Amino acid sequence: MFPELDVPVSTVRGVGAKREDLLCEVGISTVADLILFLPYRYVDRTRQSPVAGLPIGEEVTAVAAVRCGNVLPGRRPRFVLVLEDESGTLECVWFSGHRYLRRAFSAGDLLAVGGRLTRFGNKRQMVHPDVEVISDDEDGARVHTGRVIPVYSTTARMKAERLTSRALRRVIFHALEDVRLADPMPDPMRARFGALSLGEAVKKLHFPDERQDVEAARRRLALDELLYFQLRLRSMQEGRDEKPVPVLPATGPLATKMMAALPFEPTAAQRRALTEIGEDLTRGRPMRRLLQGDVGSGKTLVATSAMLAAVDGGAQAALMAPTEILAEQHAETIRAFADPLGLVVALLTGRQTQRERREILQGLAWGRVHLVVGTHALLQEGVAFARLGLAVIDEQHRFGVLQRAALLEKECGVHLLVMTATPIPRTLALTLYGDLDVTVLDELPPGRQPVKTGWRAAVDREKAYRFLREQVSTGCQAYIVFPMIEESRASDTRAAATAFEELRDGALSGLRLGLLHGRLPAAEKDAVMAAFRKGSLDVLVSTTVIEVGVDVPGATVMMVEHAERFGLAQLHQLRGRVGRGSAGSYCILIADPEGDLSPDARARLDAMAAAGDGFEIAEMDLRIRGPGQFFGTRQAGYPEFRFADLTRDVDLVRAAREEAAELLQRDPHLEQSGVLRRRVESVNLEVSAGHSG
Ligand code: ADP
Ligand code: MG
Repeated sequence: MFPELDVPVSTVRGVGAKREDLLCEVGISTVADLILFLPYRYVDRTRQSPVAGLPIGEEVTAVAAVRCGNVLPGRRPRFVLVLEDESGTLECVWFSGHRYLRRAFSAGDLLAVGGRLTRFGNKRQMVHPDVEVISDDEDGARVHTGRVIPVYSTTARMKAERLTSRALRRVIFHALEDVRLADPMPDPMRARFGALSLGEAVKKLHFPDERQDVEAARRRLALDELLYFQLRLRSMQEGRDEKPVPVLPATGPLATKMMAALPFEPTAAQRRALTEIGEDLTRGRPMRRLLQGDVGSGKTLVATSAMLAAVDGGAQAALMAPTEILAEQHAETIRAFADPLGLVVALLTGRQTQRERREILQGLAWGRVHLVVGTHALLQEGVAFARLGLAVIDEQHRFGVLQRAALLEKECGVHLLVMTATPIPRTLALTLYGDLDVTVLDELPPGRQPVKTGWRAAVDREKAYRFLREQVSTGCQAYIVFPMIEESRASDTRAAATAFEELRDGALSGLRLGLLHGRLPAAEKDAVMAAFRKGSLDVLVSTTVIEVGVDVPGATVMMVEHAERFGLAQLHQLRGRVGRGSAGSYCILIADPEGDLSPDARARLDAMAAAGDGFEIAEMDLRIRGPGQFFGTRQAGYPEFRFADLTRDVDLVRAAREEAAELLQRDPHLEQSGVLRRRVESVNLEVSAGHSG
């Protein structure tokens, strides 16, 4: 966060080679790390009344000098340390650790002691208080008393080497005195927010005058993080957006023919989305639009229509999907529309032969291929277009900000449409997609019924299979999903491959079963998926490779094994694979934990049974995990902030977004502030990669 402080921590007063080594243990190697090493709690030592005036029965801190210390024998020997100030005396009592305590203090040492004050006879006592010697330290009084004191966590080794919380406090105090932090926030902006200066904020994180200062400091640093992030996102697109983009028609003969050939009417929401996209395409400025719609809301149709409009305008269009299975499905869907129109559709994933690949690349470069569908293979070197007009990214949350940027970096002068089903809170949308306009498909195609969802314990598995058989006998198809094979360490994990054999020979014998997982040879994957799509398989036993996007309207039963291992967002996506037609659908979640079902897992399963709508699920997710936990590792593609809390800091997110837009308008390349520019350049847009392959 502070690139200018990326210097070794050994440059700080009081840090030698030994301490440098110890600090490394808690992740501190630079001065920046050190001053961002936050206390885990604070102790209020602002009010120091004389010992005699301290209230009995309360948690207090006293500062007093050691008069004497002795071990008193008895049934429970105790070490008693007598402290005094001009008002009276105070006894500190320990029933253990005597050997150390006897040597720890000398008469006259000034101590700060904290704990609950009790009365024992006519004596004032504290049992096992927190103690700090403050007099053996030239600036002890300044650092450790008379203020709110930070307490840092330390490792056993640090403590053994005397790098205690207290020692660390002193080191950080000195570092804060010595560093000069340039404040990148423009003065007017700081004034508008009544924000602390950066230097003050960092100081107050450690040494607040009052407790409330900590929150003010956090907000200032959160605002910085969000501002830099927004600036980084937006400035990546600066320059590129100066390039001319093709003016494309909102629709044309191809797009119109495709719409006319649909076996159904587009929903009002789909029409609205197409109108908004059409306006973007015709403006001569690059479209940057997020299309958000719950699973099954029909985003593919919107994308396909826009892609055909691009071809109508003489340009090429590309669609990028996160998995091969999904890319193949999209290619098939698009071909069904495009083939009759005489268009050339290519599929580019990791599995074409060298020759096929060369041919496709040439087709793209020479403009012979009109539409291309692919995975991130589209981002690889050597992929160049004759005239790419529109790029669509499906299930964008699987890619993250970086790939989106990479695609734009590569293909400048392109309209961009990103699609996601992940229901994300408003703040998050503003943060991650701060550079995008948002269209929401808030309507499902008519006739969709809610997916009946229930969860069962493992003992009811046989019953669930019987139900599944009944459904299949009426002509329905089913998925049975297992956690990924790679993840199944435990012996009782019913991994897809083993389960497939067991089911085929047992509970589901006589049904037509297919097995799908990421390790199958490509051709086999294709054959299985095609057979299931065609209806020549009744049951698809699969890993999570089918989690996103897969669309087989005839499938109406989704059974998830070890459902307790999945996050809510994932379960919602899996459930979204059924209920895609007008027939009633079912989702059966089997909870089969190794031990007891955790309260959180139970809450997730209950939430799935209770709610059908993605936004509702997202809210429950937030409640179950609590704020700050929302961006767990499962939620791939989200940046991690250190100070900003996207669930709480709605106002800051909005402010950062507006300020960033305004700043860039005035100073597109941030030339007026070198400090600010360097901060923005150091923003890491890398996200946790969460793939299911
Ligand atoms: P998602 O938004 O999850 O990507 P899809 O685009 O895969 O959803 O669409 C889900 C299913 O709904 C597909 O089978 C698609 O053909 C169908 N569909 C899309 N739009 C409509 C509509 N307006 N009326 C009926 N069915 C539709
Ligand atoms: Mg989709």
